[in-house]
Amino acid sequence: MGLVHSIDTFSTLDGPGIRTVIFLQGCPLRCRYCQNPDTWSKTSGSAREYPVAELMKIIRRGIPYFQASGGGVTVSGGEPLLQAEFVAELFTACQAEHISTAIDTSLYVATSKVERVLPVTDLFLADIKHMEPQKSRKLTGLANQLNIANLCFLSQHNARLWIRYVVVPGLTDDPQDVTAMAELVKTLDNAERIELLPYHALGAHKWDLLGLNYTLHQTQPPTSQQMNDLAHLVRSITGKPVFWQ
Ligand code: SF4
Repeated sequence: MGLVHSIDTFSTLDGPGIRTVIFLQGCPLRCRYCQNPDTWSKTSGSAREYPVAELMKIIRRGIPYFQASGGGVTVSGGEPLLQAEFVAELFTACQAEHISTAIDTSLYVATSKVERVLPVTDLFLADIKHMEPQKSRKLTGLANQLNIANLCFLSQHNARLWIRYVVVPGLTDDPQDVTAMAELVKTLDNAERIELLPYHALGAHKWDLLGLNYTLHQTQPPTSQQMNDLAHLVRSITGKPVFWQ
């Protein structure tokens, strides 16, 4: 059984094509910009347990859209790799029906969990939160050693990989920090592209509803000019396609 926060049956933002996205409950991080703090707890009352067979019934409804658009299924969260065994079972069922699989992950988990899903995952959408361990801790609550180790693990196994990096003014937008991120990605032969995600405060109201202290009320989103400049910087270092949305 998987503990599911919610399901989006028509997403175009979580991997190639049109995708059914399964948001799994539970996350080890506490990112200061998190849009989904209601996914953090592993025991949330609003989450629901699903067996693989029930999720497959929902997923199958999307097959015509997957086939027309090159889409498939993405598991997100929260941190889906906290439920790696369930994800592996779900993806095995998807691949048996030729449905493409992707996982949206922070990679702040034990490498054994990444290893468990590796054979049945067609694409990893992997975050780099911050390259500097202390700044990672300040941003997410945890240092970044597992993230870096798992990126290298995926590279060694030639897993298909897209990188995601959230640009937060004052926290992750220093060109030196962005350069360090790009220098790492340059070494990852399997990283196909980089998505720079501009910070926004759309999830702030959820923090307030949950009685949590949102610390970025005063932070403004990066400007288009800044995003273009950072995209140019990352492209020039990595030589890889860079997108921002
Ligand atoms: S990893 Fe994702 S779900 Fe977890 S705290 Fe960070 S932004 Fe939120």
